[in-house]
Amino acid sequence: MGMRVKLAAGNWKMNGTRAALAEIDTLVAAHGDAAIEILICPPATLLAPMAERIGTAKIALGGQTCHPQASGAHTGDISAEMLADAGATHVILGHSERRADHGESDDTVRAQARAALAAGLTCIICVGETEAQRDAANTLDIISGQLAGSIPDLSTGESLIVAYEPVWAIGTGRTPTLDQIGEVHDYIRAELERRFGAGVGRSVRLLYGGSVKPGNAAEIFAVSNVDGALVGGASLKASDFGGIIDALQ
Ligand code: PGA
Repeated sequence: MGMRVKLAAGNWKMNGTRAALAEIDTLVAAHGDAAIEILICPPATLLAPMAERIGTAKIALGGQTCHPQASGAHTGDISAEMLADAGATHVILGHSERRADHGESDDTVRAQARAALAAGLTCIICVGETEAQRDAANTLDIISGQLAGSIPDLSTGESLIVAYEPVWAIGTGRTPTLDQIGEVHDYIRAELERRFGAGVGRSVRLLYGGSVKPGNAAEIFAVSNVDGALVGGASLKASDFGGIIDALQ
């Protein structure tokens, strides 16, 4: 079984117009042939122009959500096929902002993931506890339920990536202790191995997300079963994201 290739994933959220394509040019120039995998998930409007700017450089693109259906009467939604058609190879699913702002349940996320897999996309499925859940010592139960409910049976070591994103660490500048990150990542690994077997379970990359910055990336990446990061705010500037990429290699 091969080593898990490290992954630096940037989630631009609802940020960026064509003016931001200059950041991609900088990223391509500095990290276009990195030994790790680099993924940018911009707003869907930027997928196609970004794909053009990236050309043959080794930077992948992803969407930030998709609809469970391939097409139809769903105003404002976007399908996995559309993401793929625009140049995406990945899609983030079940981000806590989608779960909170759009009421996405584990069932919704699992249906989205099935559609994404059918369209050939790799799914980055997000799980994570709220602060109240952590304070009540419910973190691992919450993670267990989200993993069981959000990940489809059809997942493979290549088509599934799990991101552990404590809700209280997203965009707050706060991060769990390294021990807390390690505890959850080891737990996720064990859950995946139990459900999918050791082969698949050990191949799935596990990303940490929540206030990752160039200054804390190296110590987080040294934690067991952390295979990379899902980065929000610090992915918007190529200089910051470049610092995180450097910390991973
Ligand atoms: P942040 O966001 O890096 O800005 O905390 C992470 C995420 O929501 O993926």
